[in-house]
Amino acid sequence: MNLILMGLPGAGKGTQAEKIIEKYQIPHISTGDMFRSAIKEGTELGKQAKSFMDQGTLVPDEVTIGIVRERLGKSDCDKGFLLDGFPRTLAQAEALEKLLTELNAPIEYVLHVDVPRDKLLGRLTGRRICPECGATYHVIYNPPKVAETCDNDGATLIQREDDRPETVAKRIEVNVEQTQPLLDFYQDKGYLVTIDGDQDIDDVFEEIDQKLQTL
Ligand SMILES: [Zn+2]
Repeated sequence: MNLILMGLPGAGKGTQAEKIIEKYQIPHISTGDMFRSAIKEGTELGKQAKSFMDQGTLVPDEVTIGIVRERLGKSDCDKGFLLDGFPRTLAQAEALEKLLTELNAPIEYVLHVDVPRDKLLGRLTGRRICPECGATYHVIYNPPKVAETCDNDGATLIQREDDRPETVAKRIEVNVEQTQPLLDFYQDKGYLVTIDGDQDIDDVFEEIDQKLQTL
């Protein structure tokens, strides 16, 4: 079961990843984890990646792809994998196609957890923080007992700069621009499966699961 998981920030991708790996017992491979373990193991590519990251520059695609190659070659990937956060660019997607052909492990599905942008905006701008005690709330998912007021100390809750609608809208916009070419690429390849992410977590998983059972 060779899968890629895609979705915008706030789409609930992480939660679905956990459910998929629990049921299907395949490794969840995120770019961050992959870099961290390559650096920790001190592989040649890990060292190269670290030197770029230390300089604050982007890790070049050939290094990233090399790290992906090492990771997908490990024995826990024998039954498949769930890639998350990779590929990010068309060049990476094309390199991944080549790599997976070599490994004889073609992508079966690219699962795109799709949530309308206005819904994402609501999810991502709902966080509130207490300036007194640091408690965090969410106006939809974890509201305080009295609106905009801390349960612990009655302080008026604040919204962080990062959670302001303009900032969040910009973040979504940038992500859409990055993601759309990849979605088009995988659509053309016939791998793309669009999952309705605008429903209960369990219903989203049900939809994913039904698709995976066809493999
Ligand atoms: Zn408080």
